[in-house]
Amino acid sequence: MSFAELGLSEKVQQAVEAAGYTAPTPIQAQAIPHVLARRDVLGVAQTGTGKTAAFTLPMLTLLEQGRARARMPRTLVLEPTRELAAQVVENFERYGTNHKLNVALLIGGVSFADQDLKITRGVDVLIATPGRLLDHFERGKLLLTGVELLVIDEADRMLDMGFIPDIERIVKLVPFTRQTLFFSATMPPEIQRLADDFLHNPVRIEV
Ligand code: AMP
Repeated sequence: MSFAELGLSEKVQQAVEAAGYTAPTPIQAQAIPHVLARRDVLGVAQTGTGKTAAFTLPMLTLLEQGRARARMPRTLVLEPTRELAAQVVENFERYGTNHKLNVALLIGGVSFADQDLKITRGVDVLIATPGRLLDHFERGKLLLTGVELLVIDEADRMLDMGFIPDIERIVKLVPFTRQTLFFSATMPPEIQRLADDFLHNPVRIEV
């Protein structure tokens, strides 16, 4: 399997080449065509499998159509920790060098002002930890009704950290007709129940 066969845009393929990747990892080969086809995906995969690029690369391709509106992010990626959220931002920056997309990071411990400014300008990709996202929402600064694609990453860590009630609230704030990508390293019953709740007819990929 080669990157050229996955259906990614030219721009994204150039970024992959610049990163020096010669072939997709198994999660990338299996997930990317389904994400591009707008299917929901349940990915059972650990960090280190190339999981981040498995959602970042097709998201960049999909985002080439359309543009961001003020306060209404087009896509939302939820991460359990600030560090993981920051790594996802780095991935979007690395693979999205040829895309003029606005990426914003909403994490705790930094001032609201800069984050507010970015949201006001319009965001293509919002990457957030659940608590800080809800803080912005409650301040009335953010609308989630424009989210076309939602990524819930590291779901089992979200559970360990007590974030499931926040995630359930956030899922109620985004449109029912969105596309959802859900990743977890393990699938205990509590996580399977959430996946059943949040995903519509998903493709299940286990690596
Ligand atoms: P992740 O599982 O997303 O944390 O990715 C683990 C590491 O694998 C990251 O440092 C990526 O830069 C790298 N990586 C992702 N996809 C590929 C690929 N297709 N070929 C080589 N390295 C990759």
